[in-house]
Amino acid sequence: MPQTYKNIVVLTGAGISAESGLATFRAANGLWNNHPVEEVATIEAFQRNPEYVHDFYNEMKPELYGAKPNPAHLALSKLQKEYPGKVSIITQNVDTLHEKAGSNGVLHIHGQINQAVCLNCGQVMESWGEVNTETVCPHCQVAGMMKPNIVFFGESLLCMNEVDRLLQSCDLFVSVGTSGVVFPAAAFVQIAKQYGAETYEFNLETTSNNFYFDHHIMGKAGETLPKFVEVLLAK
Ligand SMILES: [Zn+2]
Repeated sequence: MPQTYKNIVVLTGAGISAESGLATFRAANGLWNNHPVEEVATIEAFQRNPEYVHDFYNEMKPELYGAKPNPAHLALSKLQKEYPGKVSIITQNVDTLHEKAGSNGVLHIHGQINQAVCLNCGQVMESWGEVNTETVCPHCQVAGMMKPNIVFFGESLLCMNEVDRLLQSCDLFVSVGTSGVVFPAAAFVQIAKQYGAETYEFNLETTSNNFYFDHHIMGKAGETLPKFVEVLLAK
């Protein structure tokens, strides 16, 4: 770990939210919070039965609304506030734990549970309340066109222009709680490495022999990340 970094990029995934008790919201074994992916997380499912898909995400909101950030989220927020260089956070998580920890400008590439996007005008609205097939868009006033702002399977990731720009300009890339061998993390570290960044992986156990990572730090992010942040801030 050399000099002061100018542009730090942190990518977070399901593992960091799991340490706040949110272990279920992930696509493992084709299940999405214990529902088959094709029932609740594809655009075809939404077109076929929008009421059902809206209900699924509405029912998930209270748990995510009540979840609290853990020491890993807080450490990243502290790094953003106190580090002399720029610190950007990209997350695959649809919860708002980074925001609750005080982080700003978090790029949610898989969307956010507390947002809906209007299929008529493209604008995003925020709500922790119920959004359904009768909800009126606050921007264009058209009813029945709101879709949960969750990236369904087969849809493009959000904010990717900004993400590409960040990956190409960062000099430190840190992946937290996400498998280093699965898209998009695998692609992100590869880009960052090709553009010259030093790269760290924080995970419960080693997920990869991905040679794009220079360092593999194993253990709970709530324990390993605060120490890492203290080292960065001490430089
Ligand atoms: Zn609209």
